[in-house]
Amino acid sequence: MIDIRSLTCDELEELMQDRGLQRFRGRQLFKWLWKNRIDSLEKITEFSVALRQELADAFPLYDLKQVRKLRSSDGTVKWAFGLSDGLIIETVLIPERSHSTLCVSTQVGCAMGCRFCLTGRMGFHRNLNPAEIACQALEVRRQESAMHVRNIVFMGMGEPLANLENLLKAIDIMTHDLGMNFSSRRITVSTSGIAPRIIELGESASVGLAISLHATTNEQRDVLMPVNRTYPLETLMDACRQFRLPRRKRITFEYLLLRDINDSAADARRLSRLLKGIPSKINLIPFNEYPGLDYREPAEETVLHFQEILKSLDHTVIIRKSKGRDIAAACGQLFHSQGTGTGAETYLIKDNALA
Ligand code: SAH
Ligand code: SF4
Repeated sequence: MIDIRSLTCDELEELMQDRGLQRFRGRQLFKWLWKNRIDSLEKITEFSVALRQELADAFPLYDLKQVRKLRSSDGTVKWAFGLSDGLIIETVLIPERSHSTLCVSTQVGCAMGCRFCLTGRMGFHRNLNPAEIACQALEVRRQESAMHVRNIVFMGMGEPLANLENLLKAIDIMTHDLGMNFSSRRITVSTSGIAPRIIELGESASVGLAISLHATTNEQRDVLMPVNRTYPLETLMDACRQFRLPRRKRITFEYLLLRDINDSAADARRLSRLLKGIPSKINLIPFNEYPGLDYREPAEETVLHFQEILKSLDHTVIIRKSKGRDIAAACGQLFHSQGTGTGAETYLIKDNALA
């Protein structure tokens, strides 16, 4: 069964044509789905009652099912959404001064196996389809229109570039001016470093790129992020150099600081050398600790010192304060037991954070 929310506007036009209707019906349908955010095709008042009924019978709509909604003391909101097959994903809304940023998932779990990441610990369940990706933004806009979602970051559960085809379709749907009309300049795709797909992404969409770098030697990155054994640092940095950046944009390099592992002055200087010649900005993320992992958050002075070294070498570098820690919505904390009853999530969340 086709989920028509997985189709781009062009594909909907084709679908309508294939059913003997005029192509513009596809555009109307797209607008009702994504701009008017209908939850039933019977609500398309622009169509005759007969056509509404015909389409509703042919194409059932699957809305994300809200399983849980938590609100942090800092304003961050986290949703757990149920999919039609019962699996669960998470979506996080992070308020900033005049607008907010939505952190979207692209897979249920993740296969990349990074040592420090809770999502990685879930293992991989399946890719999200374009509808499931785009509907996270749809549902959040429905519920939190006052929060003015402006930026989209693909930094939720999963490795976006391992699901590139569906990601590109979702981006097409989310940026179309008849629908949600997000600006592609305000969309950032984050990757652990699947080098060939980085180049492909740049050729297929005009979006921002973030690299989860986290280490400056192959020896160390091989251990922290197994993807490095397939695409080592040289290959990854080459791909970054080839990535077609939108105008006046820079690549964001995320650098997770792990106490006594990758937080030395020598690491900072190596990081600077790696980024030579790449228009870049650096986000330092102090590790978010959670039970069951040996890594520790670095001391605050270490983080500041690391930043100072990079600044003195002419880098733009910010320290990213993780938001939503009290509801386990911070970087690397997105996790949902898929009916396995591990309960890991429960002890990460304080009860008083319930929205
Ligand atoms: N899979 C993609 C998108 C997820 S983004 C990627 O890895 O880029 C999630 C970000 O949070 C990544 O930069 C990830 O490395 C980081 N992260 C994972 N575990 C973390 C933790 N415990 N503390 C802080 N950041 C973490
Ligand atoms: Fe997957 Fe990203 Fe976590 Fe690595 S850091 S396991 S790629 S979600």
